Formats: sequence, C-alpha cells, structure tokens
Amino acid sequence: MTKARKTILDTVEDSPVPLSASEIHKKITRPMDLVTVYRSLKYLEDNGFLESFSFTCTDKRTERYYYRRREPHVHFFHCEQCHTFLDLGKCELDTQVIRLETQFGVRIATHTLYFTGICARCLNVRESADSALGAP
Ligand SMILES: [Zn+2]
Ligand SMILES: [Zn+2]
Repeated sequence: MTKARKTILDTVEDSPVPLSASEIHKKITRPMDLVTVYRSLKYLEDNGFLESFSFTCTDKRTERYYYRRREPHVHFFHCEQCHTFLDLGKCELDTQVIRLETQFGVRIATHTLYFTGICARCLNVRESADSALGAP
C-alpha cells in the first residue's frame, strides 16, 4: 500500500464518525492534493478497507462519507441541528432481513441505512430553553 493510502486509511480509522473527502483532506498533515485523496478513497473502498454512503443535509449539502469497514457493520445517526454523526453500534437487522427474504423470495446482500433526527445534546439544550420560557 502506498504512503498516501496508508495515511488516509489511518485518518479514517482514527475517526469515531464518518468523514467526507474534504474533512479527511483537512485532517491530513502531510501535503496531498484532493485528487489523491479521492483516488485513494476509491482504492481503499474497492479493496474492502472502507465503506461509504452518500448523505444530504442542509449544512453540507450532499457529501460522500467514509468509515472503517467492520463486521458486523454499524449504522450511524446524524443530528439535523448540530450536524454531527453518532455511531449507533452494530447492525441488529438480521431477523428483519430474513423476514424480507422469506416474504419477497429475494436474497438480500447489503443494505444502506442511516438515521437522522436530533441528538441528545441538542435535545437537552432545547428542553432547558423551553423550560426557561415556561413552556410545558
Ligand atoms: Zn445535535
Ligand atoms: Zn445494517
């Protein structure tokens, strides 16, 4: 593996949350152009080191986010207010997948799923703001 690929893989593996190519580029301390980052990410994903998903939010529009491939895979939550990701831990949809395979006679290979909403921290801020205003 080239030095560039290793640097990028280490950066993604060190992060507890998925990162976009530009976020990875910002975190890397050695000089590297964005094109190299994109090419390396593609290589790392094609070779099973990383996984990614395309995600749209009001803050960053549409971005592709990369994270370390794990078995069983994990799902992420995205806060619509502070735009942070949260690792929700390993997938527990096995029984749902089996049920769908039986019901529709299909063989499911993969699925892409993420959750969005308001994170616990933003909810707390909102609730204390509400109680300060005397809301029920
Ligand atoms: Zn939040
Ligand atoms: Zn899953």
